Amino acid sequence: MNIILLGPPGAGKGTQAAKLEAERGMVQLSTGDMLRAAVKAATPVGLQAKAVMETGGLVSDEIVTGIISERLDQPDVAKGFILDGFPRTEAQAASLDTLLTEKNMKLDHVIELEVDEAILADRVTGRFTCAKCGTGYHDRYKLPVVPDVCDVCGSTEFKRRADDNAETVRARMAEYHAKTAPILPYYEAKGLVARVDGMADIAHVSEAIEAILDKR
Ligand code: ADP
Ligand code: ADP
Ligand code: ZN
Repeated sequence: MNIILLGPPGAGKGTQAAKLEAERGMVQLSTGDMLRAAVKAATPVGLQAKAVMETGGLVSDEIVTGIISERLDQPDVAKGFILDGFPRTEAQAASLDTLLTEKNMKLDHVIELEVDEAILADRVTGRFTCAKCGTGYHDRYKLPVVPDVCDVCGSTEFKRRADDNAETVRARMAEYHAKTAPILPYYEAKGLVARVDGMADIAHVSEAIEAILDKR
């Protein structure tokens, strides 16, 4: 089973992808995570991407498509993959189709997480993750059970993304509306789109996604 999770920044894509990894053994392919790793390692791609990511713009289609193409060649994707944050433009969606055909793979579902614009800034600015294992948290919606201790690995170190500030979030929303939302009709025409209420709590969103995956 191969899926795309689509939705604006803060919709819950990463949270739900992590649950699908844990519960179904699927593999999360997050271009945001891959780009942040490249920035941290100061690779040529990272050096190009850094400034764009800081302003909330989109990294070039060539760069992200190249990253995804390489990632799809790793054997673990055979377990089923979850694309999180890719494709983000019509050009990326077209490239993805070409890549999947070349690699003899196919998409089963495109799941759109629908969330009111008004709460997205709040979701994003309250987000933090465990510095050691990457588990995601939120200042109000998902705090660790024991304060300041990661539920999963016990680490006491957490981090916040440089681009999760109110100003950059506005730019990222604008990019989502201008460039990413327009790819939905493309997948609708293929009969792949299912919508999930992303305003529900994390467990309910997860149940709704599981129901879509179990339907066929
Ligand atoms: P995305 O990957 O789509 O940008 P995340 O999965 O990182 O979004 O979620 C953004 C923030 O909102 C995180 O802090 C996460 O813990 C929190 N969150 C995710 N889903 C929900 C939900 N259904 N209800 C409340 N908070 C949520
Ligand atoms: P979020 O989950 O909050 O939407 P991501 O982690 O997916 O954020 O992306 C963070 C940043 O990385 C984006 O604002 C953009 O600069 C860059 N990025 C990630 N994926 C892509 C992509 N597919 N195309 C272009 N830029 C991307
Ligand atoms: Zn942890």
